[in-house]
Amino acid sequence: MVLDLLWVEKSHLSARDIFERLNNLGRNIGHTSVYQNLEALQSAGVIECLDRASGRLYGYRSDPHSHLTCTKTGRIQDLDVELPAELLRQIEAHTGYAIESYTMQFTGHPLASL
Ligand SMILES: [Zn+2]
Repeated sequence: MVLDLLWVEKSHLSARDIFERLNNLGRNIGHTSVYQNLEALQSAGVIECLDRASGRLYGYRSDPHSHLTCTKTGRIQDLDVELPAELLRQIEAHTGYAIESYTMQFTGHPLASL
């Protein structure tokens, strides 16, 4: 149920959000079960976990990806951003590390619509 909800919502939710949405859907699941399932899914690498100032959020993707956070609403969107190979080579030369994966954090607000 927890995983289903994350897949359907395709966003980043707190344990409380997940608990409330499942109960609103008529799913009879307790707080503790929600937490236990989230912990198990996260330690199995099935879901992602973001630690934000406002608390811990869970998302349905576990592969490396970037995030765009709206400065007006706080909504977090998943993004797939690919850096140019040349830039990755420069970073490797600069740091002496072979880059295996990367994620980026973007913040912004909606472009004014005309
Ligand atoms: Zn995400």
